[in-house]
Amino acid sequence: MDPTKLQALRARYDERGAFEATDPVLRTAIEQVRHPDGRRALPYAGVPTFLGLPVASGIDGLDVAVVGVPMDLGVSNRPGARFGPRAVRTIERIGPYHPTLRGVPQARVRAADVGDVPFRSRYSLEQSLEDIENHYAQIVRQGARPVSVGGDHSITYPILKALGKGRPVGLVHIDAHCDTMGAYDGSKFHHGGPFRLAVLDGVLDPERTIQIGIRGSSNMFWEFSHAAGMRVVYMEEWLEKGWTEVAALAREVVGTGPIYVSVDVDGFDPAFAPGTGTPEVGGLTPREGLALLRSLAGLDIVGADVVEVAPQYDPTTNTAQLAAQILFEEFALLALGGPSSGAGPLAAGAAAP
Ligand code: MN
Ligand code: MN
Repeated sequence: MDPTKLQALRARYDERGAFEATDPVLRTAIEQVRHPDGRRALPYAGVPTFLGLPVASGIDGLDVAVVGVPMDLGVSNRPGARFGPRAVRTIERIGPYHPTLRGVPQARVRAADVGDVPFRSRYSLEQSLEDIENHYAQIVRQGARPVSVGGDHSITYPILKALGKGRPVGLVHIDAHCDTMGAYDGSKFHHGGPFRLAVLDGVLDPERTIQIGIRGSSNMFWEFSHAAGMRVVYMEEWLEKGWTEVAALAREVVGTGPIYVSVDVDGFDPAFAPGTGTPEVGGLTPREGLALLRSLAGLDIVGADVVEVAPQYDPTTNTAQLAAQILFEEFALLALGGPSSGAGPLAAGAAAP
């Protein structure tokens, strides 16, 4: 290196601390996350919450409510997604700065970990779905947008019932499975059918729905998706087009109206997300999935979820790590990315942990 350049670099950076930056965007972000005492919070200490957000006992005054839904009575194979919320809460070092939206979502909106949906019974699937719908109806009434961690995918049906009431929403859905299957074994409620039920209830607009990452032998069950007019992107088409074309297609399908984003971790390859109940090989990479999610910035997202994390099948914790990152991406889209986020007041002096 040229000695004069080195000298200039020394003059500029020798005494600078970690919390200084020249770029105004970065400087703002650093100001928003730094502690007044000049130290950084220990990521591995304290009581774990979703994304390190503060805990709130109610919804009052929140723009975004992060909700745990520890319920897996709708699984068709391996159980365990009831442990998903706890597993995701224990993941540290996700956020608070979003690298492509270039901002700190929790400084832009009032957001909190509002705990888990209270369930009346650990035995009844039907009753649990009612409990979820009532809980989310309350969240919607109080004007907050929910971001949820499941639980198996059956939880998305009652969430959509609460969010799409009187105004059906569009959907960006990442999954190995379309989850539009009919009733079997005496139940139409299961994690293989929430989107069929939501369409039939009039709360989900199938013509503004795109399902991405679909593969495996369950493909024989997805007639309803096609009959209803959903856009199904099977893995074969994904391979041919790549994430950029599919991202453009997703924006075209959902349009400008309100949409929901639902991510089943089994949409990702089991090499990255083995901790799930119905793994299907040959799935998305996290790199592609994050790029796809980030491309949704600017859309009117009214709620989102990440589901089907069953941590006990993954001793590496990578599945929970991926789910926590997806949760942060969804939160960032709501807080920094969409037209709805413009309505959220800038929380004065909000400090991230
Ligand atoms: Mn699935
Ligand atoms: Mn699913």
